[in-house]
Amino acid sequence: MTTGSLVLEPGQFEPPAGQITFLYLPAQDLFVRRAARLRQLANGHALGGYLQFLASLADTQQTALQRLPAPVLPAPDEQRLCRQHGMPLLSATTWPREPVWHEALSAILRQMSQIDLPVAAQETIRSLARQTPAYLERQAGLMLMEEWEELQPNEAPFIGAALQVYWLRLASALDAQTVGRLEPSGRCPVCGSRPVAGMVRGDGLRYLSCSLCSCQWHLVRVTCSSCRSTQGINLHTLHGADDPVRAESCDACNSYLKLLYLEKEGLLDPIADDLATLALDMLLEHEGFLNAGSNLLFHPGRGPE
Ligand SMILES: [Zn+2]
Ligand SMILES: [Zn+2]
Repeated sequence: MTTGSLVLEPGQFEPPAGQITFLYLPAQDLFVRRAARLRQLANGHALGGYLQFLASLADTQQTALQRLPAPVLPAPDEQRLCRQHGMPLLSATTWPREPVWHEALSAILRQMSQIDLPVAAQETIRSLARQTPAYLERQAGLMLMEEWEELQPNEAPFIGAALQVYWLRLASALDAQTVGRLEPSGRCPVCGSRPVAGMVRGDGLRYLSCSLCSCQWHLVRVTCSSCRSTQGINLHTLHGADDPVRAESCDACNSYLKLLYLEKEGLLDPIADDLATLALDMLLEHEGFLNAGSNLLFHPGRGPE
């Protein structure tokens, strides 16, 4: 275990906010690249079987995404109203989900049922495929409200995967120019969800990656995503300074968020690399920090607001 200290001050190396691209919409081949990264990480990993399972799940997400029809977005005046009131356009908790996300789930379950999986996973897939729309809506609502203790842990990754497909399809149809910043800035400006992790790009800027819609939004570095404190921020790694995945902790609110350094490893993926570094979560939780991030494919830590 290595606990680092500050590597740069807030704003250092950063151009003025007006010159920074605030929001990146998700790429259409995101799940393809995620599956490739998961297979790369699985090689020789103690959780290799689990990461291979997630790679198959990402494959099915890509297929489901390609089958979804074009989404219906909020009307321009509704978008304007959201911006004026600092509300997310496609709020995870209030957006009227269209039943088409059930089709994404069915496609995911159908494909996963053709893969050689442990018996327990096969049973989960079979039972979820038989559930009523009302049951699925209730589970989705619980997940998006972060009521994780009410969810079946074995079903949650499939429901989360389908919701990610649906929200990515919605978000990728937006015009990034129409999305405004949101307070608190630790929440996705498009859907209001928590980030999975931060990504430090080659240009030195940090973007938080949404756990639901996969958008990435800018947040100045060495700033806590939960409470905006710039004091008492520390970096933690499992193996040392060359680790491409680190955790940034905040003494003010006792939270942490992982940071992925793209200049160290170009293929990093927020969800894949988060789940491949659960040992780092254990380290931070052992030190008394709560995860400010969320990962819909795995029970997330419930961090502070
Ligand atoms: Zn989002
Ligand atoms: Zn904080």
